[in-house]
Amino acid sequence: MKMSALSADLDVQRLFGKVNFIAGEWVAATSGRTRDCIDPATGNVIATVDEASPEDARRAVLAARATFDAGDWPETAVAVRSSLLSRIADLLERDKEELARIETLDTGKTLVESRIDIDDVVSVFRYYARLALVSSDRVVDVGDPAVVSRVVREPIGVCVLIAPWNYPLLQISWKVAPALAAGCTMVLKPSEVTPLSTIAFARLIEEAGVPAGVVNLVQGSGADLGPALTDTGDVDFISFTGGLATGTTILATAAKHVTKVAVELGGKNPHLVFADADWESSVDQVLTGVFLHSGQVCSAGTRLIVEESIADDFVAALVTRAEAIRVGPGLDPGSETGPLVSAAQRDKIEAYVALGISEGATLRTGGSRPADPALDGGSYYLPTIFDHCDRSMRIVQEETFGPILTVERFTTEEDAVRLGNDTEYGLAAGVRTSDAARGERVVRRLRHGTVWLNDFGYYTAAAEWGGFKKSGNGRELGPAGLSEYQEVKHIWNNT
Ligand code: NAD
Repeated sequence: MKMSALSADLDVQRLFGKVNFIAGEWVAATSGRTRDCIDPATGNVIATVDEASPEDARRAVLAARATFDAGDWPETAVAVRSSLLSRIADLLERDKEELARIETLDTGKTLVESRIDIDDVVSVFRYYARLALVSSDRVVDVGDPAVVSRVVREPIGVCVLIAPWNYPLLQISWKVAPALAAGCTMVLKPSEVTPLSTIAFARLIEEAGVPAGVVNLVQGSGADLGPALTDTGDVDFISFTGGLATGTTILATAAKHVTKVAVELGGKNPHLVFADADWESSVDQVLTGVFLHSGQVCSAGTRLIVEESIADDFVAALVTRAEAIRVGPGLDPGSETGPLVSAAQRDKIEAYVALGISEGATLRTGGSRPADPALDGGSYYLPTIFDHCDRSMRIVQEETFGPILTVERFTTEEDAVRLGNDTEYGLAAGVRTSDAARGERVVRRLRHGTVWLNDFGYYTAAAEWGGFKKSGNGRELGPAGLSEYQEVKHIWNNT
């Protein structure tokens, strides 16, 4: 891999070089193809990455298979696995600043956001380092004193871990940490749009002393490598985070082999604001909830559902504040939000804005690129608010994955709940009210995997994350996030 002078301060030669990691070796890809990584803040090429061939991906799967079947790693004492996880967390902390810069260069998000991402990655490793030590095995009374019946957990085996581009390192760490804690082996495939931080991460995993073949890494597009990674009987579990269409393809492919799959997919997340909600924090959190990382967040609160009696004033306040958001390069400390990840993503957002206008929504602010000529090279787009939206509109129903907020209005609690559930997705939702009883009622009726009451966007490694409905199945984080990587075995012993 080559990187331009732009990021010479990252000492990329030390960090990168060969970028596919198979059976403990950094190997040259056999495809002969490379892919340019573009800095979304400038449009400049910042790196050129060697892409693996399907044969390379197949070799990675077989390396993970052979390492698992050899038995040493799955049988390693949990204390050893736990200390490896802690060591990885230490190394991530040591390299936090460098990793954050890589993430910002590759994704466009602000350095502040990238630093938070790396802190969260560290927390995930520390959490699973602790949880690895807690056994959930149990003894079952079968009513016969001669029989010892135990239910034990074992590593599920070879895992394929596929991540999206919006939180490259964070999303892959939600998978790698529990997979290592459980004793699995794995093949990582980051998004071809944002490969860089996962390369640095794999170098740290190697430095931490994780045995060869346990963690393998291949670079390339899903179209090229997907079949080798998913259409195979050599994989025991696929954990995928990404879009609904890709998730559906992977589920169908894996079904041929009865491979277990967990999918974390998109969201079209409602943020319900009742008239009695605290005004200032509601304005703040509705804005950050949707415009953080330019809206490229699976749990972004893209649908504001606001009580009719305050709607005009509330939307006016949002518009004023949205127009003051400083859009700019992620490395510039003055920027509050960065560009979209790519020109292609901005094209998609522009098409959605045109669609919203043609569907009859009222464009209140945004709807264009920033006027500042200094930002012309990057893929920037202004925070955009559409008022007077309704469920018949595609901009209300489809995940746009950009800085677009749609506004719907309600008059009764019943209406608010109905609108909040009126989506094929079910990832996250927010509720804002000062009436505690109503808050609890509404939270319990919303069909979403995470619901925030008078807050928005927070999560912790210790609590499960995942979707209802078409936002996915399975869970990441928390104890359930570890269980995904385990098989359950019942041992009936009548010796
Ligand atoms: P995507 O589906 O295009 O790609 C995700 C990953 O899948 C990439 O690594 C890609 O190369 C790979 N891929 C593509 N086709 C494949 C195939 N046929 N077989 C195997 N792998 C394949 O998604 P994206 O555009 O990178 O990410 C954005 C999406 O991710 C959004 O929908 C967002 O909501 C979702 N997301 C969800 C969560 C969550 O926790 N639920 C978190 C982050 C992102």
